[in-house]
Amino acid sequence: MTIIKNARIVTADGIKYGSVAYENGVITEATAQTQSEEIIDGGGAYLSAGFIDLHTHGGGGHDFMDGTVEAFLGAARLHAKHGTTTLLPTATSGTYEETCAMFDTLEQAQKNNTSGADMPGLHLEGPYFSPAQAGAQDPRFLKLPTPEEYIPILDSTNKILRWSAACELSGAFEFAEACRDRGVLCSIGHSDADLATVESAIKHGFTHLTHFYSGMSSVHRVNAYRVCGVVEAGYLLDDLTVEIIADGCHLPKGLLQMIYRFIGPDRICLVTDSMRGAGFPDGTESILGSLTNGQTVIIEDGVAKMPDRQSFAGSVATADRLLKTMVNIAEVPICDAVKMLTETPARIQRLTDRGTLEIGKRADIVLFDDDFNILRTVVGGKTVFEK
Ligand SMILES: [Zn+2]
Repeated sequence: MTIIKNARIVTADGIKYGSVAYENGVITEATAQTQSEEIIDGGGAYLSAGFIDLHTHGGGGHDFMDGTVEAFLGAARLHAKHGTTTLLPTATSGTYEETCAMFDTLEQAQKNNTSGADMPGLHLEGPYFSPAQAGAQDPRFLKLPTPEEYIPILDSTNKILRWSAACELSGAFEFAEACRDRGVLCSIGHSDADLATVESAIKHGFTHLTHFYSGMSSVHRVNAYRVCGVVEAGYLLDDLTVEIIADGCHLPKGLLQMIYRFIGPDRICLVTDSMRGAGFPDGTESILGSLTNGQTVIIEDGVAKMPDRQSFAGSVATADRLLKTMVNIAEVPICDAVKMLTETPARIQRLTDRGTLEIGKRADIVLFDDDFNILRTVVGGKTVFEK
């Protein structure tokens, strides 16, 4: 048994001084008579369940689309240093072959992952998206969902945990049902739908919104009449959950505060949506997309920018920064900010074995100081990072 003592334990219920014990990779009860193998002094730092990032494309110079085990492990290590204990490697719209190749790569990475965040499965971001809301998705790959394509993919692997698609496309409701039947979280993303379509989509299995505000419709006029879009659906429909890129760049303080106030920590999770430049400092360069023919971008003001500085080229955030942004910029209580990085994403993604410090959950634990610098990351009972 290992006991981390002398820590400020952060849970949804509040902050309490105390200790957390784990054994064989699982949180357990700390009993006085136990002969502990190891005592770790938390030094009075904050301690919480490990952070869960349901949407990241990479970090530490690696993109999951690089398609190598090394890239998966490198990104998982980088994010673990910043408090992430679980992440979903996310694929952008690519070819059918590229997507399918990721299943084997993940399998190999899972077997060899000794020092990174756990990667229980993939998030496919595309290719069933609206060209009107393509954003950074390559428009050449966008298409309509057809069962001839997605059923064999879904049935060939258990590696897909989540799939983002535009719910207004022809065939999207059947697609959502197929995902739901197989336990795959179906998320509305890069979508131009109106509110009524989103309401119907929920009945067919869409339950989540991909990077809230980015790549989605909001209120707009059709002739004289205003029509609500996907953004308004996120506020209004209690059956939907949302994820936000809380890097302090993609959404301004006012929107972070509005989202928190009106949607609340039970329906919001924080994601990095980070590109390969995550973890790199300002003033460095990175590459958006493929290493061989991607776009060189600059990292400045904590975000990746296109060379003309007129648009973002992706987030370079890590989970510790999401927490810091929500507390210091959005002025959200620390317990709620932690909840949006732990308990809520676990519930959204139905990762029932993690997300809290309750006895029996995976020993995914993070220690951090008052400035949200990560001091220690424990993944499945193993310390993978220590400052
Ligand atoms: Zn993304």
